[in-house]
Amino acid sequence: GKLKSALKKTKDVLRTDVRDLFKAGEILDEDKLEEFHRGLITTDMGVEAASEVVESLRKEFGGRTVDPKAIWENVKETLKLILKGDGSTDWDPDNPVSPLNMAESGTTVILVSGVNGVGKTTSIAKLANFLTKANKKVVLAAGDTFRAAAVEQLTMWSQRIGCEIVKKEEGSDPASVAFAGCDQADKNGADVAIIDTAGRLQTQQNLMQELEKIHRVIGKRIEGAPHESLLVLDATTGQNGISQASKFSAAANCTGIILTKLDGTAKGGVVVAIRKKMGIPVKYIGVGEQIDDLQLFSPDDFVEALFE
Ligand code: GDP
Repeated sequence: GKLKSALKKTKDVLRTDVRDLFKAGEILDEDKLEEFHRGLITTDMGVEAASEVVESLRKEFGGRTVDPKAIWENVKETLKLILKGDGSTDWDPDNPVSPLNMAESGTTVILVSGVNGVGKTTSIAKLANFLTKANKKVVLAAGDTFRAAAVEQLTMWSQRIGCEIVKKEEGSDPASVAFAGCDQADKNGADVAIIDTAGRLQTQQNLMQELEKIHRVIGKRIEGAPHESLLVLDATTGQNGISQASKFSAAANCTGIILTKLDGTAKGGVVVAIRKKMGIPVKYIGVGEQIDDLQLFSPDDFVEALFE
């Protein structure tokens, strides 16, 4: 229900641009394929993915009489294949932890990065809530030490969720907060430590060095940390967000994406572009501003909801 309504605007775009494009009994010609290609592009899925979808249609049905049902099945199949990539997205829809690479024993450390405003603080709260509800003991580390408001917001969330939070005074070294968070999580037997990081873009070079330093430091405190490095991306920025994200993904060695604000954007196709261009799976999606508005990302559900 929530996913379908979140994708409403993207579905509207698809519907407007491709409605009645494939009529039963007509010939699937190059004009139609080109028009369909344009329609897919308007959802922000990117030229490469759109071309792959169209190429599959051309190969299978080009120059032949159209059976709309077979066409849509083919389109869905191509998109699912792209989104599943190497098959790593085959997690259990009933288990919120299943997309995460958990430590074999002890505390699992999740590093979260992303540019200010994308919904990083909210996503951390949502994830903490998700994990707490799954009976995981969570410790938050308020590593965005440059934004007092972010620390306050995270503190408020931690009280609501009922999880621990580690913080230091404004302007502290984010790596020292990250280390302290891991330290407390380990000592208190927490299942998961979620490390917030700064997201200011003005000093990008420093920010990347900072992320690398956090990586080094927490790895010294907990073996294998971070076990998961999640990048938060804002779906409303569409493909523009991807180039910026690539820089983060290199510095933070990202293993997954949290895609926020999928509700209310017409650029839902960006999920496909992310998988195609970055090669990293979207693991969670944000579908609203409330604490419960985080879902596991499922390629099958996503594609079915998009074309339903
Ligand atoms: P940060 O600067 O990256 O930490 O961003 P915040 O977590 O403070 O979020 C910025 C704004 O985006 C807030 O108003 C959030 O409520 C909103 N937001 C975050 N995630 C979502 C989402 O999935 N959907 C919607 N509609 N809003 C979101």
